[in-house]
Amino acid sequence: MKKLAILGSTGNVGTQVLDVVDKYPEKFKIIALSTNGNVELLKKQIEKYQPLYVGVADTEKAEILKKEISIPVFSGEENNIQIAKLEEYDTLINSVVSLAGIDATLVAIERKKNVALANKETLVSAGEIVMRKAKENGVQIMPIDSEHSALFQCLNGEDIKTVHQLVITCSGGALRDKTKEEIENASVEDALGHKTWSMGKKITIDSATLMNKGFEVIEAMWLYDMPIEKIKVVIHPESIIHSMVEYSDASIIAQLSDPDMRLPIQYALSYPERWDAPIKRFDFSKNLTFKEPDLERFPCLGLAFWAAKDLGTLPAVMNATNDFMVGKFLDGECKILDIYETIKKVMESHKNVKNPKLEDIKNAINWAREEAKNIFK
Ligand code: MG
Repeated sequence: MKKLAILGSTGNVGTQVLDVVDKYPEKFKIIALSTNGNVELLKKQIEKYQPLYVGVADTEKAEILKKEISIPVFSGEENNIQIAKLEEYDTLINSVVSLAGIDATLVAIERKKNVALANKETLVSAGEIVMRKAKENGVQIMPIDSEHSALFQCLNGEDIKTVHQLVITCSGGALRDKTKEEIENASVEDALGHKTWSMGKKITIDSATLMNKGFEVIEAMWLYDMPIEKIKVVIHPESIIHSMVEYSDASIIAQLSDPDMRLPIQYALSYPERWDAPIKRFDFSKNLTFKEPDLERFPCLGLAFWAAKDLGTLPAVMNATNDFMVGKFLDGECKILDIYETIKKVMESHKNVKNPKLEDIKNAINWAREEAKNIFK
């Protein structure tokens, strides 16, 4: 039986993790759950899964909850770290959507826990440190993202030295077929109109700008120890092939399925086993198509390649500025291309620190937020 601590259990990924748990209740015990502020849903989850601990980032809501339930409630920004420090769990599922995810991942690794990672910030901003610590502690990081799960499966049993390139597929996002002018004037609703995958708002905007794909490129570098030159992005609107690995003999191994996040989530929990899944079977009458990404219309992807090449604190700066700007876009305070413009300016004025320590990364993130604020004014 796996003992799970689920960070971000009320979010898009977290609720789908619990869907998998519901399908195989005998295989899991829920030790801890956490939420940013969705206490209503958390309460329902507490009743159903009977965790031993919960975390709530919103301190006011945490105080109210403490009076209503008898189990410990960790509150504030640190709640996820406190959960990661617990003895009782064996697998941390990190699906918080913010930089708060980094520390929790590192704590779990130091305690030699299994880590299933849906939190992008961990590897984008601190990939070098996280992977080094994972290696030192003999911890395997299981990706929950569909693309990285696909790569993991395509690399299984192969010699990593024979990899010619990793090919990461991309649906193209809600603005895939729009002209440059249409993209410039895209509303929040236009950018959220993502059809293939159902995801949270922040990541849906990141999909529309292709910044999300850029993050995934950087994550793939760290997860599979690949230089950026060996990673290719290809637009694949049907989202059936979730990524591929091309080998030195020109063979390409791909992983396919109907798009459903519960599959990579379940595989992260079942590996090395495969369990039955309630996923729609692939319909072979469908055509699969591919296109090169257009960096002219989607320049954020170019920024990610730049950050991936220079590394150091630059990816963290890119990520933090994107975080800030996507918030502004969702609040209707800027246009979608302002996200790119601001990130570019902040990256250009950043003094990159190579081989950063965690403190350097945190400093760079704080600096980037301030710089973004100033530029945005
Ligand atoms: Mg993905």
